[in-house]
Amino acid sequence: MASGWSRDGAVQDQIDASVEDAIKLARSRLPNGEGLTHCEECENVIPDARRKAISGVRLCVRCQSEYDEKQTTFTGFNRRGSKDSQLR
Ligand SMILES: [Zn+2]
Repeated sequence: MASGWSRDGAVQDQIDASVEDAIKLARSRLPNGEGLTHCEECENVIPDARRKAISGVRLCVRCQSEYDEKQTTFTGFNRRGSKDSQLR
C-alpha cells in the first residue's frame, strides 16, 4: 500500500500548489485602494477621477452600467418567475 499512499500524497501536493496559486492570483487582483488604469472588460482608460471616486474600480463607466443593468434584469426576471409560480 506504500505506493498508493505516495500517489495520494503527490496528488494532494498538486492540489495544494494550485490552491496556493489561486490565492496568490486572488491577492494580486484585490483592490489596493487604487483601481485599475484600464477597464477589465474593454481595456478603455478609466479616468483618474473615477478611480479616486471608487476605490478598487475595475470597470469603465460603460461596462459598469452594462454590468449593473444585467444585475437588475436578472433580479427582475427572478421576481417575475416567482410571481408566476404563485399564480399556479
Ligand atoms: Zn469597459
